Amino acid sequence: MADITEVDYIWMNGKLIPWADANVHVLSHSLHYGSGVFEGIRCYKDPDSDRSFIFRLRDHMERLHRSAKIAAIDLPYTVDQLCEATVETIRANNLPACYIRPLVFRGYGVMGVDPSGAPTDVIIACWPWEAYLGEEALANGVAVGVSSWRQRSINAIPPAVKATASYFNSLMAKLEAKEHGYAEAIMLNEEGLVCEGTGENLFVVRNGIMSTPPLSDGVLEGITRDTVLTIADELGIPAGEESLTRSDLYVADEVFMTGSAAELTPIGSVDGRVVGKPGPVTRQLQDRFFKIAYGHAEEYADWLTQI
Ligand code: PMP
Repeated sequence: MADITEVDYIWMNGKLIPWADANVHVLSHSLHYGSGVFEGIRCYKDPDSDRSFIFRLRDHMERLHRSAKIAAIDLPYTVDQLCEATVETIRANNLPACYIRPLVFRGYGVMGVDPSGAPTDVIIACWPWEAYLGEEALANGVAVGVSSWRQRSINAIPPAVKATASYFNSLMAKLEAKEHGYAEAIMLNEEGLVCEGTGENLFVVRNGIMSTPPLSDGVLEGITRDTVLTIADELGIPAGEESLTRSDLYVADEVFMTGSAAELTPIGSVDGRVVGKPGPVTRQLQDRFFKIAYGHAEEYADWLTQI
């Protein structure tokens, strides 16, 4: 158990059970065939007011439902029930700030690729998890490299589903990035266009204009991506979706990644080409993002669920 901080309870199939009892059978369908869908969510504690808020909980649970629909998994809990269960789990564990991992997977009962008849199991776990790429990364940026592994084709695993199976692809790219001394990998799609990180969407800024690849290039419909596009609109930063090539990363004034785990992480270099220190647009967006997540922006109250 390398780096998970264990807490008391995990919500499993409708009830809270002790952390150590949240187990599955080794012949569970998902373990063999990657037939699960999941989410990653954060709960933030505002250091000033001591209040805790889950960030865009409903949007995450709605995406989980869309993922289950694409994967043809019958998800037996409504979005409301999943949101309530999340709040219940965080309260039971007495966590002021945490990462939240809902997972819907095909359980024990049938073998073979055809999942028909396998039961659906649902868990919601949460635990304290610091900045995904480290505090230093958030402050000063990371070195990334373009992977030799391509992003799975949109005709293989649809990017709109946050499927456990997609992460085999991410894992290969992540391991390669580490071998090359990079903190994160950038994957290109089959056409060679820039896609995303192994668990993050990607943005570039050039001449004051911000762009991010469109969903049709095969990226996950990131909730942080949407948050950043919304904030850019609010702050009057010109922004839009645009297909990007590898060279666009090399010549950008600013490059950053977004994700519920990675938050808003500046990129300092791509394949050794220096982008530089986090720039003004990245800083402005980061600052606004954390203000909103900590409950300091009334107009975004709908995005927060107070614990
Ligand atoms: N792309 C991939 C491949 C991811 O795994 C994630 C993390 N869920 C993201 C992008 C960012 O999505 P979000 O902002 O919703 O966490």
